Amino acid sequence: DAVTVSGLADLIHVRLDHLQRVITNMGMGELHHDYMLTPEDTTAIVLEFDINPIITEDKGKDVQPRDLPDDMSEFPLRPPVVTIMGHVDHGKTTLLDTLRKSSIVDSEAGGITQHIGAFAVTLPSGQRATFLDTPGHAAFSNMRSRGAHMTDLVVLVVSADDGVMPQTAEAIEHARSADVPIIVAINKCDKPGANPQKIREGLLKYGVQVEDMGGDVQVVEISALKGTGIELLVENIVLLAEVLDLRAPTDGPVEAAIIESQSEKGRGLSASLLIQNGSLSVGDIIVAGQSYCRIRSMTNDLGKAVKIAEPGTPVSATGWKDLPEAGQTAIQVESESLAKEIIENRIGKAKQAETLKQIQAINAKRLVSHEEMSAEREAKRRYAQEVYRFYKGLRPDHPQEKDFVPTLRVLVKGDVSGTVEAVVDCLQALPQRFVHIDVVAHAVGPITESDIQRARGCTSESGKKSTSSNSSNVPGVHSDVVVIGFNVKADKKAQALAKSLDIPIETHRIIYRLLEDIRARMVAQLEPEY
Ligand code: GDP
Repeated sequence: DAVTVSGLADLIHVRLDHLQRVITNMGMGELHHDYMLTPEDTTAIVLEFDINPIITEDKGKDVQPRDLPDDMSEFPLRPPVVTIMGHVDHGKTTLLDTLRKSSIVDSEAGGITQHIGAFAVTLPSGQRATFLDTPGHAAFSNMRSRGAHMTDLVVLVVSADDGVMPQTAEAIEHARSADVPIIVAINKCDKPGANPQKIREGLLKYGVQVEDMGGDVQVVEISALKGTGIELLVENIVLLAEVLDLRAPTDGPVEAAIIESQSEKGRGLSASLLIQNGSLSVGDIIVAGQSYCRIRSMTNDLGKAVKIAEPGTPVSATGWKDLPEAGQTAIQVESESLAKEIIENRIGKAKQAETLKQIQAINAKRLVSHEEMSAEREAKRRYAQEVYRFYKGLRPDHPQEKDFVPTLRVLVKGDVSGTVEAVVDCLQALPQRFVHIDVVAHAVGPITESDIQRARGCTSESGKKSTSSNSSNVPGVHSDVVVIGFNVKADKKAQALAKSLDIPIETHRIIYRLLEDIRARMVAQLEPEY
């Protein structure tokens, strides 16, 4: 929360000497560049600036995904991208493993699967489907929250020996809110107690009406463990994809979703991408978030090097300058220098946004303390009226605590402990029917800066809570806090600080005068402050 003077200068983009001048003009003294400002100081200072636009309007260089036509029929078909969801232990991981193995069998290379966050399964007909590798809802929501619309359809795994469980329902909800169709895979049908019919009925309650129950949601009975029904499931996926008519341009600037990224020994930084539009080639330059990549190499899900990747295909790409984040969209640009410019611009914007957020937070705090303050003033005003009515005989009983009793907070410093205690006793002996006295601290020694800081911590525009800024503290006797010195003085620094913060200091040598002064301040607590 706390920030130095030079830190604040950076934060609000003003020159340090300019900021220091403003601070001095505000009456806060000449502060060193590494002086720690309290949040309250910061608020007050930022206020001096927030009439000036701090955030520049300059748009800078950037790149956006291209606009695609509503009618995509001119573009070629692409494979569907599938996410597997369902309740824990219903067999998502097993299904993914089985699917992955089948992809090896089908591939001409027959390599070892490479974990790149997604893999493709090819049917004997040559039709393909791409599966995202991380089951689970967090991954799905996470991607979506970052704006990635990767998934074309959801395979909802429900165990035939269990039923529709909380996460099944959650998955249905996720798919619905993403407007993605569902295919139900009733799993563990190999188990003796399996009851697929019960699952069909259970899903009805959640508005999922499967085909053989009169609805239009496809359902396949499978055993992920034994591999039964898997090919049928993939066929159903491809069939639904045909209905969805998933198409993408294979030319033009590439857009790809970052599935995951990692730093690997020997390979450097790499990221898995799902190509969405265009065809990505080695040598291309893509920008994702605040990082960019000149594609050095690409490998597919079988660990095979590829030179080009088309829509719907996952690849792992090396050549990143920084790690991109999952869910970000990578977009192709013409040159490395443009990529650098875009990133510089994005970093600058992110910093500005952060600054704006901080200033807004500070301002929000300020607003709250203002509201609290006016409520306090209102309560004080009403209370003073009641005291007045009591004295005039218009009110039989004197105002009670619940009517709000103002408090005068006192810090006592003195030359020796005996006198300090005597002063405190005298203060506490003062009649406090209408105004309380709260001795917040007492100690031996001169009045120092830390006493003033302490006193400021007590200034309260809200009566009970002793927080908040006193930027609008009314100077003089209205202050609800006072620092008193008995036979001691305040040092220079303390005086300067007290002056800038409007914290009154009173030094006395005669106890009678001291009490007079306090009594006057107590009475002042009853006077409306405007
Ligand atoms: P996840 O939590 O949804 O990923 O579930 P897992 O894939 O980890 O499976 C949970 C348990 O169910 C494991 O012990 C699997 O071996 C078992 N399992 C998964 N699919 C089947 C299936 O089709 N038949 C049987 N009998 N067991 C299965």
